[in-house]
Amino acid sequence: MRIGIISDIHSNMEALNTVLENLKGKVDEIICLGDIVGYGPNPRECCDIIRSNRIFSLCGNHDSACYDDNLIDYFNPFAREAILWTRSQLPDDYITYLKQLSFEEVLYGFRIVHGAPGDPFEYITTTAEARSAFMSFDEDICFIGHSHIMEYFEQRKGSPIVRQLPLRNQQELIIEEGKRYIINVGSVGQPRDGDPRSAYVIYDTIEKKLTAHRVLYRIDIVQKKMQLKGLPSLLWQRLEVGR
Ligand code: ZN
Repeated sequence: MRIGIISDIHSNMEALNTVLENLKGKVDEIICLGDIVGYGPNPRECCDIIRSNRIFSLCGNHDSACYDDNLIDYFNPFAREAILWTRSQLPDDYITYLKQLSFEEVLYGFRIVHGAPGDPFEYITTTAEARSAFMSFDEDICFIGHSHIMEYFEQRKGSPIVRQLPLRNQQELIIEEGKRYIINVGSVGQPRDGDPRSAYVIYDTIEKKLTAHRVLYRIDIVQKKMQLKGLPSLLWQRLEVGR
């Protein structure tokens, strides 16, 4: 079975549509690791696309901040401003949809989370963070998003050593027996690893092979929309540099 895994769409409809177009006919199912909304100009449309394509999605930290007032303080001022704007754009039934999304699942034998096992707000961006995360789940593979950086961590079973490695466009990763992996699939709508192209992966559960993909979308259209809707300039300026 081939599964497309996407994350951190962040209301970027152009990026989402481009990724789905690229995945068409190449996978049996698509899974999203959360943050459908936040930052970008099309929260409603992105929820509609996820739902109409029957994409299973987790709840990300931005998604949960749309319905939980207690979470707002965890965000920087730009993200907070975008969340408040997003809330104003989402009718009640969209909030209800976001509310029923789960934070973590085990599917097809691998774990999926937004940030880290047990906490959608927690980041895994260092080997130390990955080492403690490896201790908090049992499966051989955990897919994550949240940092918007496409990369992976691997650990030989029984060894304390964790390696952190980048995932580049078209790179293949063969899942080895005897190793465990935390794989960050990067961000569809707000990449921050220096590559402004949308990120996604395809994982083949039979061949145990992962392929990383980057695809260019119409960044200029999204930037224009964000400007027109009065979203913070930092949030649209960073799209073209992917930082
Ligand atoms: Zn995010």
